[in-house]
Amino acid sequence: MRFLKKEFRQCACCMETHEVALVRFQTYMTFKGEKVEYEAVAEYCELADEYYTSGDMLNENDMAMKNAYRKKMGLLTTDEIANIRKKYAITQSDLALALNWGGKTITRYESHQVQDAAHDAILKKIDSDPEWFLTLLERQERHLPVNVYAKYQQKVTELFGQSEDDYLRKSIRAQYAKYDKDVNCCGGKRLDIDKLVEVMCYFANAYKMQYLYKVKMMKLLWYADMLSYKRRGVPMTGLVYQSMPMGALPIAHKSILNLKGLSIEEIEHGNSTGYRFLRAENKEYTMLTKEDKDILDVIIRQFAENTKEEIVDYMHKEKAYIETPSGNIISYKYAAELSLD
Ligand SMILES: [Zn+2]
Repeated sequence: MRFLKKEFRQCACCMETHEVALVRFQTYMTFKGEKVEYEAVAEYCELADEYYTSGDMLNENDMAMKNAYRKKMGLLTTDEIANIRKKYAITQSDLALALNWGGKTITRYESHQVQDAAHDAILKKIDSDPEWFLTLLERQERHLPVNVYAKYQQKVTELFGQSEDDYLRKSIRAQYAKYDKDVNCCGGKRLDIDKLVEVMCYFANAYKMQYLYKVKMMKLLWYADMLSYKRRGVPMTGLVYQSMPMGALPIAHKSILNLKGLSIEEIEHGNSTGYRFLRAENKEYTMLTKEDKDILDVIIRQFAENTKEEIVDYMHKEKAYIETPSGNIISYKYAAELSLD
C-alpha cells in the first residue's frame, strides 16, 4: 500500500474531521472469467480502519481493472486506442463511421467497454496499415462533410508516405545485414540512413554542383565515405560499395534513390531513365558535424563541376578501383591510398 497524500478534512467514512489518507494498493478481481490484478485508489480512515471509495474513484478503479484485463489478454488499452485515433487526427464518431460501427463504439472502447478480439484486430490493422484505412475512409466519403473528408484523407496519405519510407528503410537494412560485421566492407560502421539522406542533400544543395545524376552522386558518396575513413578510421555513412564498370556503386542503390527527403527528377533518355538530383528542402543537416562538412566540402571542391565521365575517369585511377575485381566489394582498406586528403 502506498500513501499518496494526507489531508485534514471531514472523512467520508466516519464523518469525523481528521487526517484522511489517499492510498493506492494492489488488488484483484475476476472479470470475464479471468483473475485480473490491478492498482486501485481509495481513501483510508484510520479511526474506523476502513477504506472508502468515492464515485470518481470507483470509476478510475474500474478503468484500471479493465485496462489490466486488456493487457493480460493482449488487447489494446484505452490509451492505445485513443493514440491510434489521434495519429489519424480523427474524431471518435468519425472513426466509428469509417468502420461502419455504431456511433458510440469508439467512445465506449476508449472508456469502460472492453472491445472484443475481432474489433481489436481491426483497430491494430488500422494502426499498421494506413493504406487499408484509406480504403475504409473512401467508402464512407459521402457521409462526411467535404472539408472533413479532405482533412482525413490528407492525414492518411501523409502517414502512408511515412510507412512506405519505413518499409524502404527496412528493406535497405535487410540488404546490409550480411555486411554489418565485415570491417573491410562497411568500414566498421552500421549504415546510418538518416545521415546518408543528409549527405545526399548536402551534395545536391552545394552551390557549384552540376550534372548531379545518379552515377555522379554514387561516386561522391564513395569519396565521402573513403575520405572519412582515411581521416578518422570511420566512414561517413556506412554504405558498402561494389566495383562496377562505372566505378563504385552502393548495395541497395536503387532503393536509396527512393528515400524520403531527397528530391529527384526522372528524365527519359530514349529507353533509359536518368535520375537527376534537385536541390533538397533540408538545409539544416542536424546529423552532420563540422568534421563531416569539412570532408564533404573537399569532395565538392574537387568534383562539383565535373561531368559523370570526368568523375568516373578519376575514380578509375584509384588503387581501390584498379585492385578490386569487377563485381566485388571495394574494401575500406584502400582508403589510406585515396588520391584525396
Ligand atoms: Zn474517518
